[in-house]
Amino acid sequence: MPTVTAYGVTEANGNFQKLELERRDLAPNDVRIKIAYAGICHSDIHTVREEWGGIHYPMIPGHEIAGIVEEVGSDVTTFKVGDRAGVGCFVDACGECVNCAQGWDNYCLKGNTATYNAVDKYGAHTAGGYSTHIVVDERYTLHIPEGIALDVAAPLLCAGITMYSPLNTWKAGPGKKVAIVGLGGLGHMGVKIAAAMGAEVTILTRSEAKRADAEALGAAHFVSTADRANLKPLRNTFDLIVNTISAGVDVTHYLPLLRLHGALVNVGVPTEPYSVPFGLLAGGQRSLSASGIGGIKETQEMLDFCAAHGLGAEIEVIAADQIDEAYDRVVASDVRYRFVIDAATF
Ligand code: NAP
Ligand code: ZN
Repeated sequence: MPTVTAYGVTEANGNFQKLELERRDLAPNDVRIKIAYAGICHSDIHTVREEWGGIHYPMIPGHEIAGIVEEVGSDVTTFKVGDRAGVGCFVDACGECVNCAQGWDNYCLKGNTATYNAVDKYGAHTAGGYSTHIVVDERYTLHIPEGIALDVAAPLLCAGITMYSPLNTWKAGPGKKVAIVGLGGLGHMGVKIAAAMGAEVTILTRSEAKRADAEALGAAHFVSTADRANLKPLRNTFDLIVNTISAGVDVTHYLPLLRLHGALVNVGVPTEPYSVPFGLLAGGQRSLSASGIGGIKETQEMLDFCAAHGLGAEIEVIAADQIDEAYDRVVASDVRYRFVIDAATF
């Protein structure tokens, strides 16, 4: 088993440190990817800080991975050495259940294998993209189109698809009014993608300082949520609201903003269960839903869409020894809009 270099934490509340990691030998359908860039998703932070429960150490996160195929297994047909490749939030699924069969392997009925903090079919703990190399079954590996540079492509593998999937499912497009709540890693990709789909996009954010960015990203309207009175004129306006905020969200503030048959879709992960008064939904057949990343098929569609529209993430590239500091800055909403680790520094 080849040993590669990775960055991870070895104990609760520990800092990131350089580690040795064993990646498996190639199975016939595996590709080995030399990672070029790994994005930092807020989910990495929730996981490492055990906000989502206990984890296995060493914890090597990273599910926004972009790189180049370095070696292919004997049966691989869809990749060759030198291809640009991406890996997102999961690296395996059953491939046979009704959801997988329809391309919704993110909702595999047997549960897919997360890129990190999971146990794979070989009994090994998965380790993510904060490493020099990763070995993945070709069926769970994406083609990154030539039109997108690898650094700005990396965040598309989670932030991009997490926003594209609900925008696609709820048909954001010309004539539709879409609001994105929270202008962070997910939110900024939501604005770009919804605008490229042709929707009229409003950004709802606490951060007045991001006003200038909103227009550049493609938003038609900017509304500060710091003063809740600003939401009142927006009642019965939106066909779709995608909420990217996790902490402290009260969906009852946003449901009244939906027009008849509108939908509020959470991609931010609430920390507590919530209740919703009947009338907020019944007063216009409004829907409240949630969405989790996207399937491999839809992720490829998203990458091709982003290439066709010249979309990539807005990024700040950092070195491996800056990960701890970057985590604190993400929590403080002090990033425009995604940190991406240069894998050459691992
Ligand atoms: P992020 O870059 O930190 O962005 C989150 C944004 O939420 C911030 O920029 C901020 O926007 C707003 N925010 C943060 N704390 C807040 C608070 N206490 N009150 C109100 N607003 C707050 O995070 P991200 O990477 O985009 O991820 C967002 C969430 O989605 C995370 O919890 C992550 O775990 C989750 N996620 C879910 C999926 C899925 O499949 N469903 C996939 C990836 C990530 P403003 O400054 O503009 O207000
Ligand atoms: Zn993520």
